[in-house]
Amino acid sequence: MTKSKNDGPKSRARNRQKRQDSKYTQALRNGSPASSSAPAQNEAGGVPGPFRLGDLLAECTTFPTVSIEDDLERLTFGFQSKLLGRAIPTGTVLSLAGALAREGVGMELAVESVSHHGMVVTPASPWYDPVRLQMSLLEDWTVPLCPTPRCSQHAIDHRAIDRCHEHLTACNIPTLIRMARWWGQAHRDAHDADPERLGDHRKAALLVKAAVVQGGSETVIEALLLTLFEHEADIEENIWDEAEALAMRHAIARERVRLRGIARDEARRLRKATEGCPTCGKGLYFLPEAPPYPPQYCSPQCAAAQPPAPIS
Ligand SMILES: [Zn+2]
Ligand SMILES: [Zn+2]
Repeated sequence: MTKSKNDGPKSRARNRQKRQDSKYTQALRNGSPASSSAPAQNEAGGVPGPFRLGDLLAECTTFPTVSIEDDLERLTFGFQSKLLGRAIPTGTVLSLAGALAREGVGMELAVESVSHHGMVVTPASPWYDPVRLQMSLLEDWTVPLCPTPRCSQHAIDHRAIDRCHEHLTACNIPTLIRMARWWGQAHRDAHDADPERLGDHRKAALLVKAAVVQGGSETVIEALLLTLFEHEADIEENIWDEAEALAMRHAIARERVRLRGIARDEARRLRKATEGCPTCGKGLYFLPEAPPYPPQYCSPQCAAAQPPAPIS
């Protein structure tokens, strides 16, 4: 990919075409902001074409500062982006870069939608995970959205539990187990693996509730416990201090009881919301525990006859 020095109309058109094909971005970093050849849709109000994260960062760090006022007349500072055709708060670009730190500045982003308050961007290439990020145009933040197309809810946890509350319950069990392990590992690392501080978290409860819908709460609970705490079979060998070993066993038992209670309550709630078994129509009996099948059904057989449509 070479950049032509020829400035003729054909060359400009070719360059514009390349930009729109999301293969090429402008020559900003060579000190020539693409003022004359900025795509027409970059003007305020339209949806801008794809852009490279590194080019937006370059604008952010080299363009003159402008002030941006939100609806409550609070001021923040940013720059007039030529790539995006509007003023962008500096903090928004920095937190966008932070959210995409693993992907790197070479990542190309496509703009999904634009409003007065914000802009939703996604990776332009299908090779990346389908993250969706909401960039604030009035304040200094970028937050991850649920990756489900057109969903405007925030992700519960950017790296590990990347769905909103509604779409988390549509995830299948292998996906929930993967989320449980990712979240559990990060949570354990963040709390120095201290058993006293690992249990009783809202996000663990959300994963278990979502698993109840599919009848897989027990496997998700065990995946969480195994990731958060020491494996029970290894405690004797790995923790020599008796008091510490006891604290570990207690913490695991306490969290297991808590999560099973959450699963049972969620299963009963789902049952109550169902008139009769969707397969055979039979009335539903009281549940002592969260069943190993979707609690909307009367039996594993009826659940298997009409499995809920899972998405990965
Ligand atoms: Zn969603
Ligand atoms: Zn049934």
